[in-house]
Amino acid sequence: MPLSNDVVLSLKAVPIFPDKCVVCKQTPDTYWPILSNRTNLIFTFLLPVLFLFGFKKTKVPICKSCKKAFVVNRTLRFLITLALPIILVAVFWNALGEMSRLQRRLVIIIGGIICVIPAVIWQVFNPPAVDVSFYDDNKEYEFKDLDYAVEFAELNYHEVLRVSFGQEAPNEA
Ligand SMILES: [Zn+2]
Repeated sequence: MPLSNDVVLSLKAVPIFPDKCVVCKQTPDTYWPILSNRTNLIFTFLLPVLFLFGFKKTKVPICKSCKKAFVVNRTLRFLITLALPIILVAVFWNALGEMSRLQRRLVIIIGGIICVIPAVIWQVFNPPAVDVSFYDDNKEYEFKDLDYAVEFAELNYHEVLRVSFGQEAPNEA
């Protein structure tokens, strides 16, 4: 199972990326804005409108030849995440109408967790070169490539809160 290499920075940090394409590590000639949502998952299901206001953008360096596959991977994952809740709500719409407010919220929260599973499986088997997640007091940069993650951590050493590398360095294995 591929494990990502994670670098956690403080929330206020302005990340510095290596001057390399995040996919192939050649000289980048463009960038891709990764959109991450920093809204808490539970809050999102209790008050879905919050989700719309929670987006943050991170520009990652990439080269034009890698960009297409990278964007396709992210778009497919997004569509899988989006499609399942829509299908479930459509199928169970009438049943939802007959439930109490509390039952409905419970079903939506449990359904929401189930809906995330396919995207998680997709992510494990098709890990993106980079992903960014925002939390209450930090932000996490997940890299597929260990060397890239190490270089990123070095460039941002003054803002690094912790690192977690999924692959052991060769001399420590
Ligand atoms: Zn590239």
